[in-house]
Amino acid sequence: MGELRHLDIGTGGEVSVNWFINGIRKRIQTEKLDQYRVMYPSVLEGMSDYNCPTEALRDGKWDMDKCIFCRQCDLDPTGNQDTYSVEKAIPNIFKKSLYLYPVDSGTCGACNVEFTTLFSPQYDSSRFKIFMANTPRHADALVVMGVHTEGMERVLQEAYDAMPEPKVVIGLGACALSGGIIGRGAMEKYDIHIAGCPPTPAAILKAIIEARDKK
Ligand code: SF4
Ligand code: SF4
Repeated sequence: MGELRHLDIGTGGEVSVNWFINGIRKRIQTEKLDQYRVMYPSVLEGMSDYNCPTEALRDGKWDMDKCIFCRQCDLDPTGNQDTYSVEKAIPNIFKKSLYLYPVDSGTCGACNVEFTTLFSPQYDSSRFKIFMANTPRHADALVVMGVHTEGMERVLQEAYDAMPEPKVVIGLGACALSGGIIGRGAMEKYDIHIAGCPPTPAAILKAIIEARDKK
């Protein structure tokens, strides 16, 4: 029989162990999506005649896809995380597993950070059978972030073409959807629009779950 040997984990290991014990002591829990409320970004309500820099406010109507949630107008945040719209349902075939492949067309980095946290213990997307794919060849949904940039146009197209059918395209954040404050959206059309600058992880998960449940 072999012996259990002492493993010298050094200072870095101690830090990891302390972090782990700290997490248990503080009882860090996975977020409950239906109770998740932050004020920005969330659905905005009310009236404002502010000259919106992205034209998200026009003729008294609010266009969430264009809103960068700059907080300069008089609209009121509700905390409601339904900052998304579903154009096309996610096919039933993805009920048991959905693999996402992200492409950054030209972001500030914040959409990427929020997207990455889906796979952290705090949001734990695997409980909803949502995973990350390492290659578009294994992906079911393309997640597009950032504004349109010439350099990434071909990359986006190649990633999309490499994905097997059926496939879904998700626009994540104001830049991808409308170009935000600096340009135009990375793609013309999306199956799922997730607004925000950046969208919250809760809004991203809610949008995907709703699109998958949609008949
Ligand atoms: S929060 Fe900013 S971007 Fe959004 S509607 Fe108001 S002024 Fe426009
Ligand atoms: S939508 Fe906002 S957070 Fe996302 S890349 Fe654009 S500027 Fe950054």
